[in-house]
Amino acid sequence: MTMTPQGLPVAAMLINGRLVPALSGETSISINPADGIPLAAIPYGDDRDAKLAVDAAAAAFPAWASLSAAVRAKYLHRVADILEHRRDEVALVVTNEEGKPLREAQGELQLSVDSLRWFAEEARRAYGSWIPDPVPGRRLLTQRMPVGVCGAIIPWNVPCAMIFRKAAPALAAGCTMVLKPAEATSLVALKVAELFVEAALPDGVINFVTGKASAIGNVLLTDPRVRKISFTGSTEVGRLLMRGAADQIKRTSMELGGNAPVILFEDCNLDAAMAAVAALKFLNAGQACIGANRIYVQSSIYDEVARRLTEHAGRMKVGYGAEPGVVMGPLVDMNAVEKVEELVANAIQKGAKLRVGGSRMQGEAYEKGSFYAPTVLTEVPQTARMHDEEIFGPVAALYRFETEDEVVELANNVPYGLSAYLFTENMDRAIRVAERLETGMVGINETRLGAAEAPFGGVKMSGIGREGGREGLEEYLETKLMAIRVRG
Ligand code: NAP
Repeated sequence: MTMTPQGLPVAAMLINGRLVPALSGETSISINPADGIPLAAIPYGDDRDAKLAVDAAAAAFPAWASLSAAVRAKYLHRVADILEHRRDEVALVVTNEEGKPLREAQGELQLSVDSLRWFAEEARRAYGSWIPDPVPGRRLLTQRMPVGVCGAIIPWNVPCAMIFRKAAPALAAGCTMVLKPAEATSLVALKVAELFVEAALPDGVINFVTGKASAIGNVLLTDPRVRKISFTGSTEVGRLLMRGAADQIKRTSMELGGNAPVILFEDCNLDAAMAAVAALKFLNAGQACIGANRIYVQSSIYDEVARRLTEHAGRMKVGYGAEPGVVMGPLVDMNAVEKVEELVANAIQKGAKLRVGGSRMQGEAYEKGSFYAPTVLTEVPQTARMHDEEIFGPVAALYRFETEDEVVELANNVPYGLSAYLFTENMDRAIRVAERLETGMVGINETRLGAAEAPFGGVKMSGIGREGGREGLEEYLETKLMAIRVRG
């Protein structure tokens, strides 16, 4: 591997089967958010690099699309084998660059492998159909065709699995791809790119371009050979990309921001509910699109829930994610810390009560990292900004409610609709409430939603389309109708 004069490894983009620097020769520096130490130099690509990547993906498409699904599956299983073999190495890069504890990074790796294997097999079942035809002498047939060259843009908070949630169904379906990772976690993506090279996929089937987001995004939006944009990230950028995609009527899949309500009814199993809610809230230091943003607690159990959550947050071990016993790492960068500080200050100013945390982590071990303490706020008013915005940090915000109707209305009263969770031992209530919640996913006495087999995605301003499951493959397929004249 090449090194900078300062001894920093230089990572490479993957374009047309080759690991390359940016044409400009420029680089940015990837850093570890736990200690601020530089990890690697990352190519800072722009529109010219993106254009080469689209050229490569477009050139590779016809041959890749015409392979049988079974042959494409073999390639994907080969990538999965390599990823499984290098699991610890890649998980450590995820922890070092994104900050999440190693155990969470390992979970991400498992979801990556599962996605590769599941979509490899599912694409073999992309059946068309014969349609009973009302017209004599004609037959109607549908066939599932790959969409074409796809542009994928992903965020930093799930930097490895997000690659495979998009690339596995796309490649399995016969599409080719140009992928742009988030700047903050480009090293993870370029590590993954090396695995694709090792798996010897045909040149150009998948390309990784790092660097200037707007320039790379613009090529993906304006080049007519790119037929689909698959984006995961903020609603703000998603909206921008949808507008751009409209010019050429490109297909889009949008996995956008969430603002999940968690509802604790007084008849829940409190021990089980508290364990699940605490795990969800502090997952990835609160930086999860499906994270617990608004925790609604029925009045009669409110004080007990607040006490238990406060106690839990107070004893969490926070630090560098690869250190034994650490259950929560740093936020992705200091901008994220400042945003959380703002939201907490705003809530307190509006009347919320601080129970624990509420500041950056103190002490020498935290000085160079972007750490924020696990925090619990009670009596948060609905006028607080954190009620309407994604907190994206380790802050549990507790709201009080009295009745089922009231809490359903409160839960639905935001423009987002990704996930929601409810805890109750009354199954009638569980079904009733789950059906009324305006979200793409609902956890009932359960907060773990993801699986390669399951459709993941939101409604309202949380997005369009699904990732995972049979629906995840559909995102990369078109239906072609053939009308056939049959003589005699
Ligand atoms: P973001 O700011 O929207 O960035 C996401 C990606 O878009 C990054 O790769 C970013 O590149 C790129 N980007 C930014 N501006 C662009 C432009 N003008 N043209 C093309 N690309 C552009 O989001 P984030 O802060 O990374 O991620 C957090 C958000 O993602 C949260 O809102 C979270 O809820 C959401 N998310 C949703 C899901 C889901 O499945 N619904 C899953 C995970 C995360 P740079 O990094 O280079 O700026």
